[in-house]
Amino acid sequence: MTERDVQVVEVAARDGLQNDPAMLSTPQKVELIARAAAAGIDRQEVASFVNPTRVPRMADAEAVLEALAARPDRDASRFIGLVLNPRGFERAVATRVDEVNVVAVASDTMAQRNQGMTSDQSVAVVESVVPLARAAGLGTSATIAVSFGCPYEGAVPRERVVAIAERLAAAGVDEIAVADTIGVAVPADVRALVREVRAATGDVRLRAHFHNTRNTGYANALAGFEEGVRVLDASLGGIGGCPFAPKATGNIATEDLVYLLERSGVRTGLDLDALVAASDWLGEQLGRPTPALVSKAGGFPSGDAA
Ligand code: ZN
Repeated sequence: MTERDVQVVEVAARDGLQNDPAMLSTPQKVELIARAAAAGIDRQEVASFVNPTRVPRMADAEAVLEALAARPDRDASRFIGLVLNPRGFERAVATRVDEVNVVAVASDTMAQRNQGMTSDQSVAVVESVVPLARAAGLGTSATIAVSFGCPYEGAVPRERVVAIAERLAAAGVDEIAVADTIGVAVPADVRALVREVRAATGDVRLRAHFHNTRNTGYANALAGFEEGVRVLDASLGGIGGCPFAPKATGNIATEDLVYLLERSGVRTGLDLDALVAASDWLGEQLGRPTPALVSKAGGFPSGDAA
């Protein structure tokens, strides 16, 4: 494995595309995932095992996994499937997915809109799915959605998120992710929450997921890293958004995050030129410019990702 200080998890094929106006075909998604892997990405969210009538863009989850399994570069990336309930887990475990990411939601209203249950019930889903996933030999991670704010309820108390993280750690999950689903956090929020979650969960690996809705996503990612987060989600081109969170905009862009980290001396093990090329390709498939900036301006010093 490439030496690195932080792992970037590519989420374009899942969070990036799940609510995009364009509807990419299964082969287009597979090519996107392969291009990310060729740039050095070794872990990706590739599908969401949700009700296809609610999230039509994820309806081909099984087909994506099947097509990926048939590729010679299959093992270049570990593939994560998103799971919201036991039914989703049954679908995921029947595929060649390497890991499941189960979503707990920190507010009741968002939990109801996103997955038709209370916050407490969403945590209970993680508690029930994690042992099953482990028994099936799958990696497990749990994302705490709306960790920094809810589109319906406003501010989410930190102690609520910390209490959820404690339950997830007790459930034996390999990794806990705090997610700023609607992009409201600032670095001070990130530092405070990550510090408290780390104190409450011991040595469980921490991951963070930021949207750049209010242009604070990159500062938040760096703050998270400085507080000990060693896994960061990002989406090529900075595309993305949650179908059940009004006005939620794109994830932080993989190429912009990698530029920021590498120029700060934080090693990602990723090839910026190849990421920019993959992002350009993705923009062509979507038929419009993406929010990412490094793919437009190029790297620096010149010669890097020109
Ligand atoms: Zn997201």
